[in-house]
Amino acid sequence: MNKINIQGINWDAKSSFQRGPAKAPALIRKALYSDSMNLCTELGTTIENDLITDNGDFNIEDYFDIATITQKNIENGEKLLTLGGDHSITFPIIKAFHDHYPKLDILHIDAHADLYHDYEGDPYSHACPFARIMENGYAVKLVQVGIRTLNPHQASQAKKFDVDIHEMRNLDLTAIPNFKNPLYISLDMDGFDPAFAPGVSHHEPGGLSSRQVIDLIQGIDAQIVGADIVEYNPDRDFNDMTAYLAAKMMKELLGKLMVH
Ligand code: MN
Ligand code: MN
Repeated sequence: MNKINIQGINWDAKSSFQRGPAKAPALIRKALYSDSMNLCTELGTTIENDLITDNGDFNIEDYFDIATITQKNIENGEKLLTLGGDHSITFPIIKAFHDHYPKLDILHIDAHADLYHDYEGDPYSHACPFARIMENGYAVKLVQVGIRTLNPHQASQAKKFDVDIHEMRNLDLTAIPNFKNPLYISLDMDGFDPAFAPGVSHHEPGGLSSRQVIDLIQGIDAQIVGADIVEYNPDRDFNDMTAYLAAKMMKELLGKLMVH
């Protein structure tokens, strides 16, 4: 069993369309620890124990403070689950991981490839984190699942960075490769179909079901060293349904981090 830290990053200043995800971390926790669900994963791991340290939520002033905070929360070699925040947080998080894991694989679940060279002039927009990660050599292998917004610019970026994209239009979950290096999982809530997760800034129909994402994560047989759950926007949610899905994913990811 492994020790795990949790950190919440209250940050949505790099969102291109709507704000809101800065409020998400506390609400995801509130859903998980409400009386609505128990704390046992589907695979039978109880996530309530002293292996897990919750460091609370951080209010961010400067974008790169996210790397400094992350560095502190993994300095003892602990694994880390981050609650976001918009997807821009993943670049500074992975920057911090790179010092510990020079060979890192990433599984990225999202409607969007987030590979823009820059978005409206900002290279650190939430539309760009995986371009920054790849051009810095912070990931050996980047596998993207659920993509359904690939435009010519991002397709050429994917080719340049040799990204293994599994688009929704011809998705075969059995074709997703095994990971050999330490693995980081980045889960953008808009990877789910908006029917399952309406509480996101960018509704992109034709997405993954809750079951598909849970099956994908449960099936991973690799050393998982970190994960994030990003882009939950409480301002667009209905009856907290996206909060509860994010909480369920938090539980399942913590279970995998503990055991793998
Ligand atoms: Mn994203
Ligand atoms: Mn997205």
